Amino acid sequence: MDLGIRGRIAFVGGASRGLGRAVAEALADAGCRLAICARNEENLRRAEEALARKTEVLAVPADLSRKAEVDRLVQRVRDHYGHVDILVNNAGGPPPGGFFDVTDEHWYAAFDLTFMSAWRLTRAFIDGMRERKWGRIINLTSVSVKEPIDHLILSNAIRMAVVGMAKTLAREVAADGVTVNNIATGIHATERMQALIEDRARREGRPVEEVARLWLQAIPSGRMGRPEELAALVAFLASEQAAFITGATIQIDGGQIHFVF
Ligand code: NAD
Repeated sequence: MDLGIRGRIAFVGGASRGLGRAVAEALADAGCRLAICARNEENLRRAEEALARKTEVLAVPADLSRKAEVDRLVQRVRDHYGHVDILVNNAGGPPPGGFFDVTDEHWYAAFDLTFMSAWRLTRAFIDGMRERKWGRIINLTSVSVKEPIDHLILSNAIRMAVVGMAKTLAREVAADGVTVNNIATGIHATERMQALIEDRARREGRPVEEVARLWLQAIPSGRMGRPEELAALVAFLASEQAAFITGATIQIDGGQIHFVF
């Protein structure tokens, strides 16, 4: 299917690996020109090199939790492309922990990483989308916005704030041809997921393989998602055909609703 977004300019955060990288690949395949960022310059350059075989790519190293770096990044993207049509808000997740593990500092750091990054990038690019009467904002969140996940209190609480912002904004800009949607991501095979499994195994003094097996048992599909499956959903939400989908939070989790084990 032609997604109707050939030539559109797409910004993808956290695109050096994992879900962000897969999304960047899918949007490149759909013919978008790309701006990507990540913290680690070496990994980012590797992603840039691979993506540049498909499309034009601007890669800017930046820590999305820092205002000054986001401001600099936005300026680089504006200088290069002038505007952004498709904004995919994504960065690393906050560290694991329960209520009794976290301090004020953890909350502020997680808020900067997960909420303020999405707010600042959205604020930076949305006026141009409204002026051109076309835009797509897609926030990569987690199934935790439907059902909180044990021992991920920072992520559970702050991702719900992102969804609250997105849904409110969606209604404010719907008449301008701008859609705003969230992906409620289930378990996908990425380095971040591997790290979460290892953290749980360490805390519970169990072998990593056993914890991984338990996590799979909780997924009716019996497997983790592939990053490219999630990327295909993002590309569809970015498409011309998805113009009537806005304010939605779409689960992609192999049928998993609860984390009960
Ligand atoms: P990942 O750790 O594999 O990749 C994260 C990417 O974000 C990397 O490119 C990294 O360089 C970049 N990044 C991290 N911190 C950053 C920062 N401060 N500024 C800029 N870039 C930064 O993670 P992933 O598995 O691809 O997950 C992406 C997001 O989706 C995370 O927020 C994660 O919590 C969430 N999520 C993932 C899953 C899953 O199953 N993988 C499930 C639910 C939610």
